[in-house]
Amino acid sequence: MALEPDDEVLATALLARQRRALAKAITLVESSRPDHRLRAQSLLDRLLPHTGKALRIGISGVPGVGKSTFIEAFGMYLLAQGLRVAVLAVDPSSPLTGGSILGDKTRMERLSQQENAYIRPSPARGALGGVGHQSREAMLVCEAAGFDVIIVETVGVGQSETAVASMCDVFLLLQLPNAGDELQGIKKGILELADIVVYNKADLDPRATAVAAGQMKAALHMLRPASPHWQMQVLQASASTGEGIPEVWAMLQSYRDTMQQAGAFDERRKHQAEAWMWHLVEAGLQERFRSHAAVRAALPQALQQVADGHASPATVATLLLDAFRP
Ligand code: GDP
Repeated sequence: MALEPDDEVLATALLARQRRALAKAITLVESSRPDHRLRAQSLLDRLLPHTGKALRIGISGVPGVGKSTFIEAFGMYLLAQGLRVAVLAVDPSSPLTGGSILGDKTRMERLSQQENAYIRPSPARGALGGVGHQSREAMLVCEAAGFDVIIVETVGVGQSETAVASMCDVFLLLQLPNAGDELQGIKKGILELADIVVYNKADLDPRATAVAAGQMKAALHMLRPASPHWQMQVLQASASTGEGIPEVWAMLQSYRDTMQQAGAFDERRKHQAEAWMWHLVEAGLQERFRSHAAVRAALPQALQQVADGHASPATVATLLLDAFRP
């Protein structure tokens, strides 16, 4: 679909790195209104040739581990290196309260005031495409606006980690030195997504941090590596003092170089794009199926038959699928 004239203006302003255009474009791609979705798709197609140059970093860790503090310190460090940094959040929202886990408090106040940084609070949830849908597209918009590093932040509860890992080049997990894995709510599955583990708050107890990092290194052989080309690395840092932050950036660059040399960097992005396309096809099919007139008409009786045990779920499923003629 061709871009509407207004959106062409928006695209041009965005490519010229105008901040207001950036916020406007992200609002458009985050919207779930059907007409906005179509406009967003055209806009993204227009921007696509200008995307792909940033390093996409996923950062996770349980609440209190120091994500905001770390991202602020890390972001300021990157700015000092002459880089432009965008921070996005994927917030799965708490299953208990229905509220945001990352929190709506003003976060990263210093970083958010910098000309070359952009911080997007987590979008409203419940949109089509599931957790992380909007962040994936917001990430592309930020890349088109010339950001060199995109940080996607999430919280350690599982579903959102998988979403973030599947849109980022590298996944960094923050850990606390003084808590067991159970206390940190870190499941082995999440650890296996990590390319780099950073023990934060090393200033509080340097010795305990070194021990925890050592233990993690010793346990690495029990994990399935996320990539055959990269062995998970364990670092120590203090987001408060800034100690260890340059080393984290050096490690991320080393990761990028190693993966690029192996051809695995672009390969990972290609897989991610394909998987995302299939995900959208499946989500779209499901939506069309559920809103299909013949399917809706047949559904009440079908559900009744399954509930009464008058027909097997398999038979009823086949019936409904046969009624679905797109
Ligand atoms: P988040 O919930 O993961 O975003 O964690 P926050 O960044 O909000 O940090 C939680 C608390 O830990 C705050 O009081 C921070 O000041 C503190 N904190 C974060 N990083 C460090 C660190 O490296 N050292 C120390 N001593 N405190 C830290």
